[in-house]
Amino acid sequence: MENIDYLQYGFTRDALLKKIASQMSQKRFTHVLGVEKAALTLAKKNNCDLTKASLAALTHDYAKERSDADFLAMIDKKKLDPDLKNWNNNIWHGMVGQYFVAEELGIEDPEILKAIAVHTTGDQKMSTLAKVLYVADYIEENRHFPGVEKARQVAAENLDAAVAFETQHTLLYLMENKKSIYPLALATYNAYVAKP
Ligand code: GDP
Ligand code: FE
Ligand code: FE
Repeated sequence: MENIDYLQYGFTRDALLKKIASQMSQKRFTHVLGVEKAALTLAKKNNCDLTKASLAALTHDYAKERSDADFLAMIDKKKLDPDLKNWNNNIWHGMVGQYFVAEELGIEDPEILKAIAVHTTGDQKMSTLAKVLYVADYIEENRHFPGVEKARQVAAENLDAAVAFETQHTLLYLMENKKSIYPLALATYNAYVAKP
């Protein structure tokens, strides 16, 4: 792929894709490739490093099919905030999943790992890479839900507006369904959606 150089990270694209595919269903792997495509489009438009955008997208859901026991063990191993144990796969696969990506895929770039960590909830201060991944995950071509077309339109125009759109709609969905809201998701809301 043009302008993408994985060799500086020590592996080939084929080897990386094989490892990722081995960790997930065909359906999720198709989602991952869709996120990469969307992330590259957004990265080009927003002056983001294309190799990092590709790697963050390809690895963002790497840990999603791990067992709860695997995540709980990693929280202990890395001495992460014990409150994390009160959450579930939705929150763990990014926040804790970053450590599986680092250990098992050898990706150690802090910006990539941070983007993976916050890809589900966002964060009050996000790098362009983190925004690109957060939005690409939401609008990729295999996503079908009411509002996704609008989200794609907004993303094509303005990345911050797309972060705001996605955050507002995700929080509305969580509230409507009486789901617990991870504090970082509220911080994202306050930073990108709420008016001063
Ligand atoms: P996916 O991994 O590609 O399916 O997408 P995401 O990582 O963005 O989201 C995973 C799930 O987490 C989705 O069902 C979101 O609705 C859900 N989610 C996002 N934010 C929160 C939150 O603050 N609390 C809870 N309980 N779930 C959330
Ligand atoms: Fe995810
Ligand atoms: Fe995803």
